[in-house]
Parts: sequence; structure tokens; C-alpha cells
Amino acid sequence: MSFQNPVFIPGPTNIPEVIRKACDMPTLDHRSAEFRKIFDPAVAGVKKVLKTTSAEIVIFPASGTGGWEAAICNTLSPGDKVLAARHGMFSHRWIDLCQRHGLDVQVIEAGWGDGVPVDAYAKALRDDTDHKIKAVLATHNETATGVLSDIAQVRKALDAVNHPALFLVDGVSSIGSVDFQMDAWGVDVAVTGSQKGFMLPAGLAIVGVSQKALAATETAQLSRTFFDFNDMLKSYATGGYPYTPAVGLLNGLATAVDMLLEEGLDTVFARHHRIAEGVRRAVFAWGMTPCANSPELYSNTVTAIRVPEGFNATEIVTLAAKTYGIAFGVGLGEVAGKVFRIGHLGSMTDVMALSGIATAEMAMADLGYPITLGSGVAAAQDYYRSHGNATALAAE
Ligand SMILES: *Cc1c(COP(=O)(O)O)cnc(C)c1O
Repeated sequence: MSFQNPVFIPGPTNIPEVIRKACDMPTLDHRSAEFRKIFDPAVAGVKKVLKTTSAEIVIFPASGTGGWEAAICNTLSPGDKVLAARHGMFSHRWIDLCQRHGLDVQVIEAGWGDGVPVDAYAKALRDDTDHKIKAVLATHNETATGVLSDIAQVRKALDAVNHPALFLVDGVSSIGSVDFQMDAWGVDVAVTGSQKGFMLPAGLAIVGVSQKALAATETAQLSRTFFDFNDMLKSYATGGYPYTPAVGLLNGLATAVDMLLEEGLDTVFARHHRIAEGVRRAVFAWGMTPCANSPELYSNTVTAIRVPEGFNATEIVTLAAKTYGIAFGVGLGEVAGKVFRIGHLGSMTDVMALSGIATAEMAMADLGYPITLGSGVAAAQDYYRSHGNATALAAE
């Protein structure tokens, strides 16, 4: 692997130089007023990115998986029923985590390439007249398949039957790169990590907690210590943390949210749409298709690409790493060997994306795929040239 090259895995993502520098800090007393000068702006910025004014932000020294665990342990009790869909590796892992905590998961199986099955959710909620379902889980962006689901529609399904269940959303590979509206969508717990849209190293679980979710902590019986929301919020109120925070990462987070807000969230989202669309044009030019089953599901943060029958997609990833020093994502679980993934979230520009597309072409040509070198690059170039603004701030 070459450190000169960008990575095209869907997390951890490329770290802009200014963020790397911000993370590199001398030791600072996390009980001092100096710490609050880092922490408070980071929290205020995260609220803006999540589009919430009413939720609390809790930040654990953990990864996204820790955020999943925090979401359930703080709000639910053993044996509680939760509704979830399995349509890729990440939704699968969250279900597994819930089951290991003794929750009764009503799993709706969907295709790996489909979105959260809103109609099936609506039916399950309609049928649940005595409100046994205590929480509804949704994975906003299924990173394994490159599928973005419609979270507002899931909220509508809950509201249509006035269902009181909590709404817990995994936004790990969406938040910061595509629109996420915690308040408007009525999300009770929103989960993300530092190493995806926030362009940081791994090490922070960033969690938005609604007032309704906070109220649920009063009766929730699952055990929690490290991940206790109330311990965190009590300490925040008195100026500190219940244990040692990752100060350097939090300083990086303050810089990251500044960068996103300075570029403007709408500009950030438009940039990711443009980059992703160029990648998709390349995929079609290769005669291949995204794993996502229909255009409205296409993710603007990661594209999983189905390779032709008779080829093993994992070989593209292995060869690209070995020969060209470029990291792509392999297919996971049900789509292992069938897809490879180009991650384009976080710090990414049109020009960086072109280098990834070009490298994928070289790797596929080396492996005897029936593609013409330059075909995908040309398709993406055409799109980028006609859809302007290639100078994205995030690359500075
Ligand atoms: C990366 C990812 C996770 C897991 O996050 P970690 O930081 O690796 O623990 C969960 N959900 C989604 C959708 C992801 O992309």
C-alpha cells in the first residue's frame, strides 16, 4: 500500500492534512477549561451536521459498533422486541449485537441490494396493536451493498399508526456526506463514527440522543457502564467526562465540523452526489451494474459493483492493493466475491475519484475482464466536466 495514494474503502476514509494536524496534540488536562474549548464547539458542530436542535450529543472513545451498543443498552430491556431489516452486512451485525444482548429481534429479510423494506415495516407496526415493538432499527446507508434507504418514510410508517417505538438509526456511513435530518425524521438515536464522513481516524462513537430516548433510559434495564448516556451527560454538565476522553480526536472533530460547515452542508452533499454519479457512469460504461437494485437506492458514499459471472471480485481488490497500492473494499457476506466496492465518502474530490476509477480499470484489465481501458474514466470525466465545481474544499 502506498501512503501517496488516496484510499477507496468506505471507511476509514482519507484524512485531510488539517485534520491530521488537529488530532496531533500534546497532553491536555481533560478536566481543565481548555478541554471545553475543544469539546463544546465539536458538539455544537455535530448538532448542525445531524440537523438537530433538541437532541443531546454523546461522544464515546469507541467506534461505530460502540454507538450501536450504546443505542440499545441505554434505551431497552432484556427481552424487548425490536424491529429490524437484514439487507447487508452492517444491518446484519446490528441485529447480531441486539440478539447477543438478549433482545427479541423481529427480523425482516430483504435482498442484499434492497433498501429498508418500508412496506414490511409498516405492516409489522400496524399488526403490533399492543405495542410490543419497543424500537425500530434502520441502517440509513448499507455500506456492504451501497444502498441508501429513505429514513423519512420509515418515520411515516411509525406515525401512520401512532406507534410509540423508539427509532434508532445507523448513520455511520451517511452522516457528514449525505443529508441526515435527525429532528425532521424523528430519529431517537443516531449513530456514527469518526472515521467515515467526519474524515477522522477511527476512535469516536458519535451519538445523537433525542429527549424521548433519554426518557427511555429511566426504565431501560440492559446493563451499561462505559456506554451510559446519563453518566456522560452528567459529566458534560459539570465540565468534564466520566473517564478519559480522546482529546486529540475531539480536537480533530471540531476541525472536521468546521470544514464541513464552511464548505456548506448542501455543497458537501452535492459534491458527494456528483462524485458518486461519475463513479456510476464509469460502472455502466464497463457494462456492469451497481449492487443497489434501483436508482433511488444508489448511495452517494459507496458504490458496490457487481462483476460479470465467472469472475471473483475479491481478486480486483487484492490485485489493486498489491500492484497499484490502492485500497478498494471487498464484498462481504452474501455478496462476497460478487461485488467490489469503491468508497467515495468523506474527503474526496472528482479528481481523486478519477484516479480510483482508472486504477479499477487497470486491475480489471490485468485480470482479463472484458473492459476497454479509459471507458469508465471517460464517462466520469464527461460527467464531471459538465457538472462543474471540481475544486472541493475538502481536499485542501
Ligand atoms: C463502518 C460501519 C459500521 C461499524 O462501524 P465501526 O466504526 O467499524 O465499528 C456500522 N454501520 C455502518 C453502516 C458502517 O458503515
